[in-house]
Amino acid sequence: MKTVEFHTCECSEKRAFADRRSAEKALGRAQAKRDRQAQRWENRHPMNRENRIYQCDYGMWHLTKQSRRSYEEGAARLAA
Ligand SMILES: [Zn+2]
Repeated sequence: MKTVEFHTCECSEKRAFADRRSAEKALGRAQAKRDRQAQRWENRHPMNRENRIYQCDYGMWHLTKQSRRSYEEGAARLAA
């Protein structure tokens, strides 16, 4: 399988993509892998799978997922 080319960015140590399409491709692959695991043991936490891409101040594209903290805040709101 061909590897999606990525770079580093000045904003963080994260992988950075020069264009949106490369980022979306990488995101799709990451989600496919995660979904296979999710079917086995992560059904109870579907929100953990919400990955997104975003463009940072340096004009590079990064992958991100919902943070654990915001997940817990959402769960607390639901339970209240
Ligand atoms: Zn960046």
